[in-house]
Amino acid sequence: MRPLIVIGNWKMNGNLASNADWIKTVARGMESGMPADRQYVVCPPHPYLAQCAQLIKEHSLAFLSLGAQDASAQSSGAYTGEASASMLKELGCRYVILGHSERRQLHHEVDEVVAAKALQVLDNGMTPVICVGETADERNSGRAEEVVCGQITKQVAVLQDRLVDCLIAYEPVWAIGTGKVASAQVAQDMHRHIRLQLAEFDEDVASHVGILYGGSVKPDNAVELFAMPDIDGGLVGGVSLNPNDFLAICQA
Ligand code: PEP
Repeated sequence: MRPLIVIGNWKMNGNLASNADWIKTVARGMESGMPADRQYVVCPPHPYLAQCAQLIKEHSLAFLSLGAQDASAQSSGAYTGEASASMLKELGCRYVILGHSERRQLHHEVDEVVAAKALQVLDNGMTPVICVGETADERNSGRAEEVVCGQITKQVAVLQDRLVDCLIAYEPVWAIGTGKVASAQVAQDMHRHIRLQLAEFDEDVASHVGILYGGSVKPDNAVELFAMPDIDGGLVGGVSLNPNDFLAICQA
């Protein structure tokens, strides 16, 4: 049985005071217990990881794990501005988002780089959350499955059966930050497609890998999305900045 996982991606938002308020509110909301078969993760910007790790500890927030929004493909050296997977691990991260469409678009990250980053993250005992997804043009021209399968193929080629220790996030680019959510059936169809593609490689990997949906997830659409058989949770961007909405999605 795959656990349901909800990951909040704060993107480049937050400050010391608002981060502390967020963790306090979520701690209060989780005080009375949360479903045991679920996992919850928050991914603040790198400069706030240490603060959030400390706050999670102070509030004894056993239900909430820390994640990062990116990691370097290198282990150390002359890579100004980058953070290595071992540094993120040292700060208490358990998950790392990789290949987010904003990084692919704005930083020209390609699948091979995403796979190299995933290896670094795995080698440091954390879980890569590998994002894939098609643009509006690719979907409108009937190429959505081909594009996503191409992205998955490149990960399989490098990661092989280590994919079993990764999460995949299907994030249609046209749904990210736009308010246009994929219908639960459209998302389920793509998740199914990804799982069948993985099964061609290895049945065990396919049945164990968690596939999350991301793209304008909100408290009012999370229930329907999470009820789909191949949707194992959500990667939530903008809405996760509001701790009450994040809690509502966690409880969906
Ligand atoms: C994201 O950034 O991963 C994301 C899904 O964003 P949003 O929820 O704002 O669409």
